[in-house]
Amino acid sequence: MIAAKGYAAQTKDTQLAPWNLDRRDVGAHDVQFDITHCGVCHSDLHQIRDEWGGGIFPMVPGHEIVGRVVAVGNQVTKFKVGDLAGTGCMVDSCRVCANCQHGLEQYCTNGNTLTYNSLEQDKKTPTYGGYSNTIVVHEDFVLHIAETLDLAAAAPLLCAGITTYSPLRHWKVGKGHKLAVLGLGGLGHMGIKFGVAFGAEVTVLSTSPQKEADARKLGAHNFIVTSDPAQLESVTGYFDFILDSVSAEHDYNQYLALLKTDGVHICVGAPPTPSALLAFSLIPGRKSIAGSSIGGIAETQEMLDFCAENNIVSDIELINIEDIHPAYDRMLKGDVRYRFVIDMASL
Ligand code: NAP
Ligand code: ZN
Ligand code: ZN
Repeated sequence: MIAAKGYAAQTKDTQLAPWNLDRRDVGAHDVQFDITHCGVCHSDLHQIRDEWGGGIFPMVPGHEIVGRVVAVGNQVTKFKVGDLAGTGCMVDSCRVCANCQHGLEQYCTNGNTLTYNSLEQDKKTPTYGGYSNTIVVHEDFVLHIAETLDLAAAAPLLCAGITTYSPLRHWKVGKGHKLAVLGLGGLGHMGIKFGVAFGAEVTVLSTSPQKEADARKLGAHNFIVTSDPAQLESVTGYFDFILDSVSAEHDYNQYLALLKTDGVHICVGAPPTPSALLAFSLIPGRKSIAGSSIGGIAETQEMLDFCAENNIVSDIELINIEDIHPAYDRMLKGDVRYRFVIDMASL
C-alpha cells in the first residue's frame, strides 16, 4: 500500500479534516500521479452532507484532479513518469456492458466506480477522491492534459467541463441555436464558454444580478435576472435549449415556458429534493426535459483536446485546503467566481 494523506469527512455531520489513507500499490495497468490541484464541485458538498443518500464514510471528496505522473505499471502504454495527468468523476467501470463498449462509461449498467463515495469493481473496496496528495488509477481512466494549459485552471474541466461539453455535443448545440445557461456557477460558466465556442447565442438565466458583467466577460450575449418577472416574460418561447445547472430545488415548469416548440431542457444540476413537473408544461410545445451525466472517457479526452486547441480553461479562485469550509459556505450562497480550486501544496 502507498501511504497518502487527504481531507475527509468522517460522517455526514462532521467537517472535513486531515486524514491518512492508503492507495493501492501501482498495478501493471495503473498510473500513480501526485495531485497538484483539485477543483471543488457542488457535488462534493452534496455528497459529504449525504444529500443524495447512500454515502460511504469516511469520505475524501474531489473529482477534478490534476497532477504529474510519479509511477506507472509495467504494462502501461499511455503515460510515462513526468507526464501531466487528470482524473474526473470515474476511475473504473465494468468495461463489458453495451454502454461501456460504446464509450458511455458514465452510464455503465453494471455500476461504474466513481472516484470517491463509491466501490471498486470488487464491489467491496471504497474509493477516495482528490482532496489528497496522490492517487493510483487504471490508465484507461487517466486523461492527458496539455502542457500549454494553466494546470490549476484546467482541473475543473474534469467535471464542470465535461458535464457541460457532453450534452451540448449530444444535442448538437451550435450556430443558429439560442441556448440558455440556467445558474452561473462552476458548471454554468463552462456552459457559457462551450456554448459560445460552438457558435450558439448564449443567454444566462441567473438569480444574481451582480454576475451580469462577469457573464458578458465570459462570452454570454444576454443576461436575464430570473427573479424579475418582466425580464423572464421577455424570453417566453425564446430558447432552443436550456442547460440547467442549478444545485437547489427550483420550478422546472417556469423555465419550460421559455422554450420554443421542440425545445429541450437539459438537467445537469442535481438538486437533492424532487420538484413537481406538469405535463402541460411539455405538451403544448412538444417540449422535452432530459438529463445528462458527466461524459465518457474518450469524450472527456476529446473535450480536453478541444480546450487545448481553443485555450479554454475555468475561471478559478485558488484556495488552501484549510479554507475549504468557507469556500463551501460561499458556494451555498451562489458566490462562486467561478470555481474554487484547491492548491494541494497546502495539504
Ligand atoms: P455551483 O457552482 O454552486 O453553481 C450552482 C448555481 O446555481 C449557483 O451559482 C446559482 O447561480 C444557482 N443556484 C443555486 N441555488 C439556486 C436556487 N435555489 N435557485 C436558482 N438558482 C440557484 O454548483 P456546480 O458545481 O456548478 O454544480 C451545479 C449542480 O450540478 C450541482 O447540483 C451538482 O451536484 C451538479 N452536477 C451534476 C453533474 C452531472 O454529471 N450531471 C456533474 C457535476 C455537478 P446564480 O447565482 O446564477 O443563480
Ligand atoms: Zn463534479
Ligand atoms: Zn459497464
